[in-house]
Amino acid sequence: MINVYYLMDQNFSEFEQKILNGITEERWLKLAAELIKAGQPRACDPLDPDLPGGEEEAIAMLISGKLEALGMDVKRYESVPHRPNVVGILKGKGKGPVLMMNDHMDTYPVVEPHKWNKTNYKPFEATRDGDLLYARGSSDTRGNLACTILAAQALVENGIKLKGDLMYCFCVDEERDGTHGSIYLTKEIGIKADYSITAEPTAYGGDATKGDWGMNLSIANGGHCLIEVTIEGDKAHIWRPDTSNNAIVEAARLISYLEKMPFSHEITDFMGHTPPCTTIVRIRGGLPGEMQFSPDSCTITLAVVGIVPGMNLESIILDIENEVKSFVGDRKDITYKINQVKDSLFVPATDPVPLNEEPCLSINKVYSKFMGEEAIPNRKNAFNDTIRFREVGINAVTFGPGEDGWAPDNESISITKAVIAAKMYALTIVEILGIEEGL
Ligand SMILES: [Zn+2]
Repeated sequence: MINVYYLMDQNFSEFEQKILNGITEERWLKLAAELIKAGQPRACDPLDPDLPGGEEEAIAMLISGKLEALGMDVKRYESVPHRPNVVGILKGKGKGPVLMMNDHMDTYPVVEPHKWNKTNYKPFEATRDGDLLYARGSSDTRGNLACTILAAQALVENGIKLKGDLMYCFCVDEERDGTHGSIYLTKEIGIKADYSITAEPTAYGGDATKGDWGMNLSIANGGHCLIEVTIEGDKAHIWRPDTSNNAIVEAARLISYLEKMPFSHEITDFMGHTPPCTTIVRIRGGLPGEMQFSPDSCTITLAVVGIVPGMNLESIILDIENEVKSFVGDRKDITYKINQVKDSLFVPATDPVPLNEEPCLSINKVYSKFMGEEAIPNRKNAFNDTIRFREVGINAVTFGPGEDGWAPDNESISITKAVIAAKMYALTIVEILGIEEGL
């Protein structure tokens, strides 16, 4: 059994210990719980393009105040009302790069609160059970956001003056691919940084108090998109199924092919643990008021995930079309339509940030002090704002506590992992930006 706390004591200088002492479990729990409930459920922001987006204004104001209290120059940028992005800058005292710490303020919605028994059916009330803190947003990503704030706080409280600029960038609209958040900030406002660390879940492993765990360093992301396949058959009376081509039945048969279908792609350096594939997310067939008829139209909505560099919307639609075509064969009694879901975005995969460049070098140096080895590099399949920063040329990575693949109901985060991640952030910031004075 490895005791990570024991490893810590012997591996850090007195100077580093002083910084680390400012980051405690108690402080993290208090801040995480405060952030988790701030402005909820209005900050819930579904990926579904046909549903309204979130409003992150309340948490944005809370976070703005916290960054101002740390001496940051804070600005808010909003492309639509009630959705301000927060950017705080702690100006460096010397020459150095600009490091962005990034996270998002929206969360997934809670659609079924009756499944949240771990929080007594109150999904925004942070609730502890052993080493886990449960709540919507605990893992994705307000618990992580708390880690980034504690890291800056530990530096400021110790009077540390950094050489380079430390930028905190907290976005809205991340859960639906960044239109009003990271896309707006990079494309319209033109925010720039040399390096960026997105504090989103990349952790893995079991009980963190027993030491068997780690955090991947996600140096690239997979892409995704939403596609609809509509099958059209013939409407008939329920009493005469022999005269219908029931579109629901045809679509259901088609799903078993779509679920397994391969996508044309080249093998790349970091493939991510999910290969290019589909996930069926909705099926829509049958109209209210027509229960006496079998439906003539059924639409399957699917996510294409695990997209790697080189794949694009055209290649994906062509692959799906070939699959549907071979399913239909020479039948004349059914037809099909394939299209990207209206108002959804195609998110391409990103190219890896080189491991021998920042911020990877410093993250690995610090990570090794805590964990005894370097972080495992990978491609993260989920969307993160990391993608939008990488698209404009920033060396942007994802690195944070919270499980990659957290539970959709009863979401949780390991308290041990979160506290250590906050400590890692603090030392990584120092490592990358350098110290002008302090301690
Ligand atoms: Zn997230």
